[in-house]
Amino acid sequence: MSHPLESIVAVQKKDRRLIKLMREIRDIPQRKQDIEAQLAGSAQKLETAVDSRKHTEVTLKEQELEVESLKERVTKYKNQQMEATTNEQYRAFVKEIGTAEREISDLEEKEIVLMEALEKGKVIESEREATLSGERAEISDELGELDARAAELNEQLEQMKATRARAAEQCDKSILQKYARIMNNKRDFAVVMVEPGGHCGGCHMKLPPQVTNDARNPAKIVACNFCGRIVYNPVS
Ligand SMILES: [Zn+2]
Repeated sequence: MSHPLESIVAVQKKDRRLIKLMREIRDIPQRKQDIEAQLAGSAQKLETAVDSRKHTEVTLKEQELEVESLKERVTKYKNQQMEATTNEQYRAFVKEIGTAEREISDLEEKEIVLMEALEKGKVIESEREATLSGERAEISDELGELDARAAELNEQLEQMKATRARAAEQCDKSILQKYARIMNNKRDFAVVMVEPGGHCGGCHMKLPPQVTNDARNPAKIVACNFCGRIVYNPVS
């Protein structure tokens, strides 16, 4: 007669496979989210670069308009200057023209700085655009692979559940219930082998000789005194 724990150990092997499958299936949405978050991060970086470039363009345009209007003012002052009737009026225009020309020169210096910033900004923008479109292509592949993996895992899960159900039919019902209670609690193993030297294969504590002996007896189901897992000592 075979030991009743043999069929339980067979179920446990399938349960461990089921746990692994379920864990992997459970992790897939998080992996997809992580991938999508990375893409969102790159899209955000591109948006920042676009905003910055647009802002520079607007500022540059404003300054150009300001320069134009100052230049018109200078032309107007120069015309008025020629019609000045007094030295005082003439000097006043010289002063006004000087002020406007200094402003123009300041603004033109700022324009150069802005144009350089704009060129740099455009380079950064196109780099980020390239990164994003590269990631988009890569990510859509990755997401597709993950979806395919999830489908495959779910199929394996269904098959494994059916195999597990068939294996469970071979088990003693009361031992199977006991096994299920321990498995729910421990989440790794409910049945463990007695290790050489008489240690529990689950918690590795030294088992009493009586337990080690009983673990060989097909008529007895014994548990580790320390961790509560069923201990099995197959006769080799
Ligand atoms: Zn133990």
